[in-house]
Amino acid sequence: MLPRGSKGWVRYRLGQAMEEMFACESVAYNLIGLYDDATSDALRVESTVAKYFGTEGLHRNLHYLEPVYGIEGQTQRYRIEKDRRDMRVMTIYEGTNEIQQFLLLKDLTDMIGPKLDKLEGVEAKADGSPYAEQVRCLNEMLTGLHERLQLTRKTYKSAAWRRALVQPIFFRLSRMAVLPVQDAERK
Ligand SMILES: Cc1cc2nc3c(=O)[nH]c(=O)nc-3n(C[C@H](O)[C@H](O)[C@H](O)COP(=O)(O)OP(=O)(O)OC[C@H]3O[C@@H](n4cnc5c(N)ncnc54)[C@H](O)[C@@H]3O)c2cc1C
Repeated sequence: MLPRGSKGWVRYRLGQAMEEMFACESVAYNLIGLYDDATSDALRVESTVAKYFGTEGLHRNLHYLEPVYGIEGQTQRYRIEKDRRDMRVMTIYEGTNEIQQFLLLKDLTDMIGPKLDKLEGVEAKADGSPYAEQVRCLNEMLTGLHERLQLTRKTYKSAAWRRALVQPIFFRLSRMAVLPVQDAERK
């Protein structure tokens, strides 16, 4: 239930939340489809992205919607206060989100990076597609990720994920791998 007198900016916040929900659901349905497909390879990376993206998405939504309720959103009058408490654990169990970034970093440097090197051009083709602009953005992100992965592997080899002290610096690469999902759903 929304507070009385909700105005235009509330619709804006609701729009942001709807986008987020749509993106999270799309990632989840895509993953379910991949699991149902008997020809799918191991889906460790995809599952990691989905867990990380989906649970962080919950918190992005709380961030968008809490201001709608104002100070009362912090009271038990509205369910959003309980949602904030309940959702915190989602980023912790089933492997904390820090660990998801760690796993992504490991797979990016050791498994995905070498695969990307072997591809002639990593760009997807979208000539004539109504989604040409979205594909162009995704290509740009993928190329950026690939370049940074190459540099990281050349300089640090596997040390980027093996050494606890430098891991957090390279977690940015993990987040880069998740961003195209988010962006693709939004465009
Ligand atoms: C309410 C709840 C229900 C649960 N239910 C189940 C269940 O049904 N079945 C089940 O099997 N488990 C369950 N768990 C366990 C849960 O999966 C683990 O608690 C969770 O995976 C985190 O592991 P940990 O507690 O051992 O954290 P730790 O491994 O002790 O980590 C502590 C902190 O350090 C961070 N950290 C650790 N290593 C690194 C690293 N290398 N780089 C960066 N950060 C790091 C972690 O992200 C975390 O923030 C549950 C936990 C909770 C809280």
